[in-house]
Parts: sequence; structure tokens; C-alpha cells
Amino acid sequence: MKFLKWGLAALALLVVVMVINTVTFTKKDVVLNAPLDDSALDKQALATRLSQAIQHKTISHMDPQDNDPQVFREFHGFLKNSFPKLHNTLSLEMVNDLSLLYFWQGSDASLKPMLIMSHQDVVPVDSETRDRWTHAPFAGEISDGIIWGRGAIDIKSGVLGSMEAVENLIGKGFQPKRSLYLAFGHDEEIGGKHGAKKIADLLRKRKVELEFVIDEGGSIVGGGIIPGIAGQVAMVGIAEKGYVSLKLTTKAVGGHSSMPPKHSALGVIAQALVDLESKPFPANLAYSKKMFNNIGPAMGGVNRAVFANMWITSPLVESILSGSKTTNATIRTTTAVTMAKGSSKDNILPSEASAVVNFRIMPGETVQSVTEYVKNVINNEQITIASVEGFGNNPSSVSVSDNENFELIKNSIYQVTQDKELIVTPYLVMGGTDAKHFSGLSDSIYRFAFNRFQPETLERMHGINEQIKVDDYVDVVRFFRELILGANQ
Ligand SMILES: [Zn+2]
Repeated sequence: MKFLKWGLAALALLVVVMVINTVTFTKKDVVLNAPLDDSALDKQALATRLSQAIQHKTISHMDPQDNDPQVFREFHGFLKNSFPKLHNTLSLEMVNDLSLLYFWQGSDASLKPMLIMSHQDVVPVDSETRDRWTHAPFAGEISDGIIWGRGAIDIKSGVLGSMEAVENLIGKGFQPKRSLYLAFGHDEEIGGKHGAKKIADLLRKRKVELEFVIDEGGSIVGGGIIPGIAGQVAMVGIAEKGYVSLKLTTKAVGGHSSMPPKHSALGVIAQALVDLESKPFPANLAYSKKMFNNIGPAMGGVNRAVFANMWITSPLVESILSGSKTTNATIRTTTAVTMAKGSSKDNILPSEASAVVNFRIMPGETVQSVTEYVKNVINNEQITIASVEGFGNNPSSVSVSDNENFELIKNSIYQVTQDKELIVTPYLVMGGTDAKHFSGLSDSIYRFAFNRFQPETLERMHGINEQIKVDDYVDVVRFFRELILGANQ
């Protein structure tokens, strides 16, 4: 009886704690300052210059042989003509022939420089989808308050937008205390090894330390893109996953298939694949917790109670997040079996069989630790494991999200949106960005581009009918202006 009493008392206490946690799980109040004066921003001129930038076909093809360096050079000429004040004030260094590194010297040498990145290149337009574009992909048409074309979102708006902000500030007589770099690689869409990586290598060689770096990655999403959240959420990436593809190979005698062994070489590989799929990598909720701490208060009912009490509900959260492929990818290294090969004929046993498995690696793990894990799970000496050449990188460093630099990004977002209800949250980026090459140059490397997405517009990035509203593009410029000014206060 006594045990039951104590048990009930403990349960009651637990309920009280959980209720208190839920009730006090609220969004912090946001203090808004007046937005900057916009009178010097000429919307039409901004839109026209972005439109012209889109008309330069700075395409990165899968095979770099197909790329045309001349197109990039013409684009550089266009930038020079479009931003005369910037080119008179900042120094420009060409890195590995086609990447651009601008530097604006600040007056206070004790302040570490900030760095804004973007990339000049865009993905090609699939010939099969070409006729589904309502406006020609490289015409840069402006109609009904929208700028159309490849690169409007990804991410000529970042290159031009940050340059517009600098041009505007110079025009107002602003002189920075903190030095500023603008870094625009030319091959982000094919990995950034010849562009952003070379820029980062150069800065490392010069022992430059950066206060913070901002690149593309997250955006402002709404309309339920994040399930359970009706309002707007600004997602600021603080890390990105790594990547490796491992090839599993095994050899056998081969021969005719009329008298097969119990397991052919392909059967052995198949067993290894089944083992791998049934033993997923362990979950790491660190990034989800950061995110749910911010978005949880905006959720309703049970969800809010669950996320307010992650100290006790973590196992439940883990099983919910593991249940959907989208959220599963945010909490663990993922395992994707993508290719397999046996013999070349139906009645011949393979003398060699192989399969390729692609892994997206969680921060905290490495290409090497993933390879070890795979070896242990497969536990078969007959199978060799090798990484597929040409690809493979460790996860990025993880940036700090409770410091002044993150606050600056946050405040700049609020200054532009003037929306107190908007939520700003750190998160883990699933895809790759050029920012990964800057790991180690700063503890504050953020991935956020001031774009606004609804469910129906999300697919336009890299897809058909890429576009940006003129008003949204003006906000891109305003965001960079807030950021530069904020970093100089
Ligand atoms: Zn991009």
C-alpha cells in the first residue's frame, strides 16, 4: 500500500512538472527596432540588375569540361559595370581564375572580419523540362512583380543582393569598423572544390580568423512546411552532414547456374545489404532538440507537451522522428542502398558481385567511423569495403548558436520582417553548401539565405519556373544591409 501511495505521489509530481514545463514553454518576446530607411533602394533598378545577372548563363555542368569560363568572365564584367562604388572601394582578388574574393578594409584591426558567401554558378535546365517553363529560364523576365529565371533563388540573388547592400552603404557614406569579405565561388553546384574551397584554403594560408560566415542553406519557410507550425520559421543552418559512398565487393568461383552454392556472390552481398538496412545508425537528437526548443512553443496540444519535456520524452521523440524518412534524416547517419551488380547473364553465377551504399553522415561521426560501423555490421571477411572515388567528405564543423553572432543574424531577420511571431531556429542542413569548406575559419558559420518558401514554391529551387518576388529580393538586400551595419555596432 505504501509503495502505491509513493508511486502515485511521484506520478502526480511528474504530471505537475510536465504541466509547468508545458505552460512555461513559450517563445521569448522579440523587441523590434525601427527598420532602416529604404528611400535609397530603387526597387526597379534592383530588379533589373538581378534580371541581367540571370541572363549570364553561368552554368555548372556535371562534367566540368562542358563549362564555359568565358561566360563567367562576362559575368564579372557585368558586376564591375553594375557596382562602380563597390569596385572603387573594395579590393578584388581572383581565386583559381574564376572565383571572386572582395575585401572591404575596416578601420578597427582588433575586430575579426565577417564574410558573406554565395555562388556564381547555377544548375543547368533539363532539356525535357524546358517547355514547362512559363518564362524562358535565362531571359530574366520581370512580370507581375516577379523576377523569373535560373538563379533567381539559387543564388544570384545572394551574389547581387550582398553587392547591392555594399553599394548602397558606400553611397550613404558608411565606412566599416569591421572588415568584410565577399566570397563568390564558381562551382558550388558540383561541390565547390575549385571555388569556395580554394578561397578558404587561401584565407587559412594567410591565417585569417573570421568573426562569422554566412552562406546559403536555410530560409524562411511557412504554410506548414514544418508540420504543426502554421507561421513563419527562419531556419539557420549551423552544420551540414557529411557524405560517403561505400562499395561492397565479394568474389566467388562463378560458373553455370544449374548447380549453385547455397549463396552466390550476389546473395552474400544481398545479405550484407539486408543487415545494413536493419541496423540503422544510432540516433543523435542534439540538433532536433535545439530546433524543437524554438519551434515547440508554437505547436499545439500534445506535441507542445512532448517537446517541452524532452528530458523525459526523448525516447518517444526519437521513435516519432525515426518513423518518417524526412525527419529520420535529421537525427542519424542515413543508409541508402543505391547500386548493385552480379553477373551479366541470367544463367551465369557471378564471379564477383558488388553494391554501393550511400551514407549521409551526422556531425560527430566521420567517413572512417562510418566505414568501421559498416564493417562491424556486415561482419564478413569475404566482403571488401572501399569508398567510391571522387566523393566523400566528413560532416562540417558545428557552429555556436548561443552567441552574439547568431543573435545578429536573428536580429537582422526580425528587422527586415518586422514580424514578432516569426520563429528563428538553428538546424542541421541536409544538403551540401560551400560553407563546409570554411570549417575551422570561424566558430560561427551559418547557412541562411533570406528567401521565403511556401510548400508550392519549395520545389522551384533547381526545378522549373525558378523565380523570386521583387519585394522578397528587396528584402534580401535589406537583410545584408542590416547584417553589415549590425556587425559594426
Ligand atoms: Zn546554391
